[in-house]
Amino acid sequence: MKYADIAMYKAKNKGRRGYYFFTEALNIQTQEYIELTKAMPLALKQDEYQLYYQPQNDIKTGDIVGAEALIRWHHPTNGLIAPYKFIPIAENNGFIVELGTWILEMAIKQKHAWETRGIHIKLAINVAVKQIQDINFVTHLQSLLEQYQVDPTNIVLEITEYVFLHNNDLVLNTFRKIKALGVKISLDDFGTGYSSLSYLKTFPIDILKIDKVFLDDYNSNDGLIFIETIITMAHTLKLSVVAEGVEIQEQVNCLRQLNCDSYQGYLCSKPVTINEFNSMYNRLNKVSST
Ligand code: C2E
Ligand code: CA
Ligand code: CA
Repeated sequence: MKYADIAMYKAKNKGRRGYYFFTEALNIQTQEYIELTKAMPLALKQDEYQLYYQPQNDIKTGDIVGAEALIRWHHPTNGLIAPYKFIPIAENNGFIVELGTWILEMAIKQKHAWETRGIHIKLAINVAVKQIQDINFVTHLQSLLEQYQVDPTNIVLEITEYVFLHNNDLVLNTFRKIKALGVKISLDDFGTGYSSLSYLKTFPIDILKIDKVFLDDYNSNDGLIFIETIITMAHTLKLSVVAEGVEIQEQVNCLRQLNCDSYQGYLCSKPVTINEFNSMYNRLNKVSST
């Protein structure tokens, strides 16, 4: 009965009118889900999460002009756990709201530390759909901005297109409140999810993040047309464009020709610890300014 229940749960999760056979792999997956669900809140109390930072570079100068905060989990026995393993679970069971509150504070605290050292770069923070739907989100954001006295115009919230799937009145209202604080909004993974171009007109968005799948295809004719079209459309709507998943110099050359604004990817660096990020920043921005 337990196995049948696990299979039913999976079938329901995949959508209506489906069926699913129980397999040992599914059993392991479910055990993992249950274990992580229990372990995640405990990990927050035990300080096992850490924010890593990945640079964003100006397309023309190559200077680091921003960073994206990306969470990592240092599990005491399993080692480093990547976000794709636990963020979807946290989004599913709602724990993302509590975790996101912590992420927001840690990131803004880091922004404050940079500003006190004269480093004025953009900081992008990932925000899950459930956080946007949380009625306390904007108040919490506002109190953090006041507490840490940071420049809000250099803070960017990265939100995926899935936010537009539910209650658009609430989303629009929240976006407007975020904008009123001076904070910027970036549409993450643009073009991969549930996109409708009308949202770009209706919602106060500042930045489009072109997803890695488009960059991977930069050297095919169709691929290039997609990238070019996204950039041209974004600029027409007065949005700036960040290309993500940039791994080779040729992609940067291509993006530069297409007038993209900045890029992020392994070509410059993987997400790294704050100490590594700071020394990279000192090294790169000094080198390119001489
Ligand atoms: P994302 O927001 O799309 O983040 C970009 C992901 O692409 C990161 O993976 C980054 O390491 C990876 N990446 C960046 N440049 C390259 C590249 O050149 N090549 C390749 N192959 N990959 C690249 P990461 O850090 O594993 O994060 C995965 C996802 O987990 C994120 O996707 C985001 O959806 C979620 N996530 C991570 N941190 C947070 C967080 O603090 N809050 C929330 N809500 N979600 C987060
Ligand atoms: Ca992101
Ligand atoms: Ca992304």
